Amino acid sequence: MVNDTLDPRLRSWVASAQAPGTDFPVQNLPFGVFSREGEAPRIGVAIGDQILDLALAAREGVLDASLGATVDAVQAPALNALMALGRPTATALRAQLSLLLRAHEAAAPSDAVLRSRLLVPQAEAVMHLPAHVGDYTDFYASVHHATNVGALFRPDNPLLPNYKWMPIGYHGRASSLVPDGTPVPRPTGQRKAADAAMPTVGPSQSLDYEVEIGAFIGRGNALGSPVPLAEAEDHLFGLCLVNDWSARDVQAWEYQPLGPFLGKSFATTVSPWVVTLDALAPFRAPRAARPEGDPAPLPYLDTPADRAAGAFDITIEAALSTARMRAAGHAPARLARTNAAGLYWTIGQMVAHHAMNGCNLRPGDLLASGTVSGPTPDSLGCLLELTRRGAQPVALPTGESRAFLQDGDEVIFTAFCAREGATRIGFGKCRGRIGS
Ligand code: CA
Repeated sequence: MVNDTLDPRLRSWVASAQAPGTDFPVQNLPFGVFSREGEAPRIGVAIGDQILDLALAAREGVLDASLGATVDAVQAPALNALMALGRPTATALRAQLSLLLRAHEAAAPSDAVLRSRLLVPQAEAVMHLPAHVGDYTDFYASVHHATNVGALFRPDNPLLPNYKWMPIGYHGRASSLVPDGTPVPRPTGQRKAADAAMPTVGPSQSLDYEVEIGAFIGRGNALGSPVPLAEAEDHLFGLCLVNDWSARDVQAWEYQPLGPFLGKSFATTVSPWVVTLDALAPFRAPRAARPEGDPAPLPYLDTPADRAAGAFDITIEAALSTARMRAAGHAPARLARTNAAGLYWTIGQMVAHHAMNGCNLRPGDLLASGTVSGPTPDSLGCLLELTRRGAQPVALPTGESRAFLQDGDEVIFTAFCAREGATRIGFGKCRGRIGS
């Protein structure tokens, strides 16, 4: 599984790919869609602080013709066509991109003019959604999050009986997925205080973020054809970060009996770079152990491979920057540091469960993990849990405090994978600021 594109000794002719702490060394090579002002969106690959213009590379004949249909797919304005070609294609393309970007490789362009034309500084680029997302599904895979939230809304009955038998999810809204940096207007909704006789309508007073991992579907499955867990990762293209913004007051009033609706569908922020499963190979982890007494997963949700390495060891951090903090020159304050390896359900299990009824997943569909919360107070992935539904506000360096998000607040997610013997890789940023 771990091939030579992951060799920690590899260096790139793009100098910033060797910068300490970069998210995008030559071992990462995530895909995204970018443009400069006035240009059409096109596919690129992050390398250091630059973007390799993959569409231009294809047009200029820099990519090997042996890649066939891939050469056309990478000239599209979104990743769907490349995703549809499946894992082996993405792996072959990655191998060639690695050779193209390595220092002292025969495949690296020797022409300095061409080299500079192929690179676009990330600082000059606007990032778009990586794919046209036809369907977006949000899961609820952290048992810590599910238990904490359940306890706030239903103290006597925090975890419903189905939780430990299947990955719980709901169908989200694809049309309101937005790329990193898009402002998030405060939604208006209907909410009802517990002691009020009737609901009121107005701007949400308990606006929250949710730290999540996103998974883009690669090759789809035909309607009526389930995806066995053993094949689930053949249908995954790569991972990103997701902020499932949530209006808690709206959610609390509307969520029973059919689940989240307007409390979630006003905006969901997606990070721009899709980190492939190939790049994540060194950072696989055993599926989180279930507490003593929990049921074993049903056979369709269990394979030895998923047990051994179904999880991803991804450290995710959430930080907050208020308008006053920015004015005073404060760095964003970290609110949480959590890890995706602790999820109760793996992404493979989510895919297998999602498709078990024959539901067709299509290239570019987005699955999200649900809020990634850990067992400790510093690893809670939303304010609802962190402030105990606003009862214990978070203190900030300016002397301000937050029970929920205020206008002007910016929420910033970052994530990385690091392990002895492997090169650290990162996911870039997933940011959004409250207000238009
Ligand atoms: Ca969520």
